[in-house]
Amino acid sequence: MTNTHSRTVVAKFGGTSVADYEAMSHSADIVLSDSHVRLVVLSASAGITNYLVALAAGLDAAEREVKLDAIRHIQHRILARLQNPTVIREEVDRLLDNIATLAEAAALATSAALTDELVSHGELISTLLFVEVLRERGVNAQWFDVRKVMRTSDRFGRAEPDLAALSVLAQQQLAPRMAESLVITQGFIGCEDKGRTTTLGRGGSDYTAALLGEALSTDRVDIWTDVTGIFTTDPRIVPAAKRIDEIGFEEAAEMATFGAKVLHPATLLPAVRSNIPVFVGSSRTPADGGTLVCASTENPPLFRALALRRNQTLLTLHSLNMLHARGFLAEVFGILARHSISVDLITTSEVSVALTLDTTGSTAVGDTLLTQSLLTELSSLCRVEVEEGLALVALIGNNLSRASGVGKEVFGVLEPFNIRMICYGASSHNLCFLVPGTEAENVVSKLHRNLFEQ
Ligand code: ASP
Ligand code: MG
Repeated sequence: MTNTHSRTVVAKFGGTSVADYEAMSHSADIVLSDSHVRLVVLSASAGITNYLVALAAGLDAAEREVKLDAIRHIQHRILARLQNPTVIREEVDRLLDNIATLAEAAALATSAALTDELVSHGELISTLLFVEVLRERGVNAQWFDVRKVMRTSDRFGRAEPDLAALSVLAQQQLAPRMAESLVITQGFIGCEDKGRTTTLGRGGSDYTAALLGEALSTDRVDIWTDVTGIFTTDPRIVPAAKRIDEIGFEEAAEMATFGAKVLHPATLLPAVRSNIPVFVGSSRTPADGGTLVCASTENPPLFRALALRRNQTLLTLHSLNMLHARGFLAEVFGILARHSISVDLITTSEVSVALTLDTTGSTAVGDTLLTQSLLTELSSLCRVEVEEGLALVALIGNNLSRASGVGKEVFGVLEPFNIRMICYGASSHNLCFLVPGTEAENVVSKLHRNLFEQ
């Protein structure tokens, strides 16, 4: 595999694909069925990260014991199924003890840094167990601590990767190991300059896989999860949703950004940048195939999919002083940038601007994005109205802003609903609107019926 022309694939398995011994066995089968897979990126076993996040918030002794027991139970059950558990029992137990110690510390004083240190243990343990699952089949597999290469900022809970450092370190440290054997490493976690553990945000393992694929110039990134690919909308909301076999990067990126849960929103950035196809499939039923996300697809349809994102906050800012109107938007964005807040949708009028913020996704304790200091700062500039509990529905497609009749087809369906905001025209791949959270599923079902089930 030292030959640079040989194809390589990074395979990532999500929490349900490493939830227990059976799931790990299925995932191992998939890894071994494709000799191009040289690097495996894993999430924590399903449920573990949630328990760890709860512990990191600081629980009293009794509550702590309940969570710790639940974690030990999940990991020991996998350990018990190994042919030779003694090889790694000590190491797994050391990590479990670490969790208990850190959880006790969190009960005294929580911090974002401590939270990331604590939650990283889920991925550290799942990867140790998976290496053993492979080794007992006689496979030459080695465990690799991804923090050696995944350098990030120190924004705990939502750390940003240092791409230049990652590229150099991955070539130095990972590439040679991948030439020797299969390498198993952690998704989601990283390391800042001072050596403290960071995380890339909930669900960040997909992003890790794509970043490593980019750094190592692999030919494909496979994301194995518990759904058989990307659907026209969430099948739990609309049972008639259909699997999409092939989808373009832009469309899939819009879907992930606007709430389709299949991929972490940032996952496709490295894939697009480096033109690496991403496959999404179910580790339980690999024979069912999945969705291939790639640069171009044949005959891209006008309407591709509907995505739904809940927990949206709408900020409406009314400028108090028209004299300042010239620099008003610049000032608003300056303030938002200083608070590291990213804006999703925006519409403006003469004296006001409305924008939406996403308030989900971080592991950081109390990270509601909309901090008091931000509101205070904005209030000195303008009158601020905050509306919570909204949902963003995004219609994803191709040439949406140029095709005629889109408005009629879409807005006709939406007539009975209270639409709070519409964004149309900035991208030819999406048309977004904000609706009350309680109406969101209805809106999606109705649109799906009219645009996708005819
Ligand atoms: N284990 C982490 C989480 O649950 C990361 C991931 O699964 O991608 O958010
Ligand atoms: Mg996941």
